[in-house]
Amino acid sequence: MNIQMVDLKGQYLKIKEEIDLALLECIESTNYIKGPQVKTFEEHLTNYLDTSCAITCANGTDALQIAFMALELNQGDEVIVPAFTYVATAEAIALLKLVPVMVDVDKETFNISVDEIEKAITSKTKAIVPVHLYGQSSDMEAIMKLAGKYGLFVIEDNAQALGAEYKFSDGTIKKTGTIGHIGCHSFFPTKNLGCFGDGGAITTNDPDLAERCRMISTHGQKRKYYHELIGCNSRLDSIHAAVLEVKLKYLDKYIAIRQKAAEYYYKNLCDIPWVTLPHKADYAVHSFNQFTLKVNNNKRDELQQYLKEKDIPSIIYYPLPLYKQPAFQQYSPVNFTLENTEVLCNSVLSLPMHTELTEEIQDKIIHTIKAFQ
Ligand SMILES: *Cc1c(COP(=O)(O)O)cnc(C)c1O
Repeated sequence: MNIQMVDLKGQYLKIKEEIDLALLECIESTNYIKGPQVKTFEEHLTNYLDTSCAITCANGTDALQIAFMALELNQGDEVIVPAFTYVATAEAIALLKLVPVMVDVDKETFNISVDEIEKAITSKTKAIVPVHLYGQSSDMEAIMKLAGKYGLFVIEDNAQALGAEYKFSDGTIKKTGTIGHIGCHSFFPTKNLGCFGDGGAITTNDPDLAERCRMISTHGQKRKYYHELIGCNSRLDSIHAAVLEVKLKYLDKYIAIRQKAAEYYYKNLCDIPWVTLPHKADYAVHSFNQFTLKVNNNKRDELQQYLKEKDIPSIIYYPLPLYKQPAFQQYSPVNFTLENTEVLCNSVLSLPMHTELTEEIQDKIIHTIKAFQ
């Protein structure tokens, strides 16, 4: 049995005919840039998310950069981010000479702590970036309320959570990435909706922001060769849009499979005393891009090594807080630490999670973990 973190080949084989046809059509059309596939996919993504506008771009990191460029903030303005996230969340902020202000996360949900956000707000704060880590929504209702109180933008880093949902206290349900002012999405192959390379998108309900994002993603122009803004060249290739157009139809099914696999892990790993299973917040419908354990006996690295010896892959997302990354030293005072972030960096371990997982594969993973001393 060959156990993988993600089985992209298995997923492809199930829809091979449809995908191959779409790819061939794209190749033969030679409309490789801004082909009709891109427009169609943008429309269907807009409908899927029930938002007003989707602008595709080259990757999720660019989506964040374009979003921040569109906000037209000033050098030195502060943007609040969780310290426990992928580096891309803070990268665009720093590149644009804004200041990423790192705050601690909730130790149960792994997502940015709303109390810590409020403590970090200063007169220079302009935006908050909630990251829906591992596929579960941050507490968006509380974050939007705080943002309203202080007049801040909210940019959702939805790279890991496309298709996840947030339940408001009045019962309204919205897809993550559509609640803040801008949502940033990634189609990296291992994300919930992955293409055959890099891809990304920006979504917003604000027509002015939408127009600026679209212009920025294509050299700051509305009309070819007339440049109103400084932009960049960040496009989703037609060939990736063709793949995504096919796969978007299956996204809800893919998420349901992930949720079912997660339930199987919950059911069978719940009695291990040294493991904490991922917390499901009441307000969230988790999309389980990752299934991430907390290993509480200080033996996380040993467990990972042991699993590796038994041919079971696992990944540590993420071993180092943002403030300990050499590239981000300038944004944190010496000896800066955040308690929950530190604990998580030392205890999290993500197990294989993908759309082709079977109970047979999971049984092997479960039995092996249970036999670890
Ligand atoms: C993957 C990811 C990104 C960046 O997406 P790319 O498409 O790889 O550039 C940003 N933020 C988070 C939290 C991610 O997981």
